Amino acid sequence: MSLTNSNIHPLADVQTSHIGENTTIWQFSVILAKAKIGNNCNINALTLIENDVVIGDNVTIKSGVQLWDGLRVGNNVFIGPNVTFTNDFTPRSKQRPISFLSTVINHHASIGANSTIIGGIEIGAYAMVGAGSVVTKNIVPYALVYGNPAKQYGYVCECGTKLENYTCPACLAGYQLNENTLNRQAT
Ligand SMILES: [Zn+2]
Repeated sequence: MSLTNSNIHPLADVQTSHIGENTTIWQFSVILAKAKIGNNCNINALTLIENDVVIGDNVTIKSGVQLWDGLRVGNNVFIGPNVTFTNDFTPRSKQRPISFLSTVINHHASIGANSTIIGGIEIGAYAMVGAGSVVTKNIVPYALVYGNPAKQYGYVCECGTKLENYTCPACLAGYQLNENTLNRQAT
């Protein structure tokens, strides 16, 4: 496991020069020329990143993930293994849409293994998507969602634990729901 050229493994095909410091890219990843990747990311083996893709800092992308044109990934996002994104509602072979759907994953959101994220939606900050979910609608910040189609089953703390009565049983952080928006209480 030798890494050269700013932590880009020699067996990766990295065509972009927009890669931040301390970002690691592992074997058999393909990253096209216009993709932008921030600092301190971990792009695991066997990933494909197209051109119109922007990835923030401190992002983890596990193996077997393809990031298609139109995807925006915020800072500190976790994308589990074999998560699938789509960017076209009506795909046909050899028939390209005028523009691809835009999908936004906001900062600190986590997407569980093998989930499918339908194109054109926004996943809120700190949201948690359970493994194997099929996400077909926007997800609000801090929401815990899972299933097919994914539904909300409460909220999670910034630490990742499910809230009980708007309080985190693990780290004891408190939250408030104001007009359907969850906010962390100042400590
Ligand atoms: Zn917590």
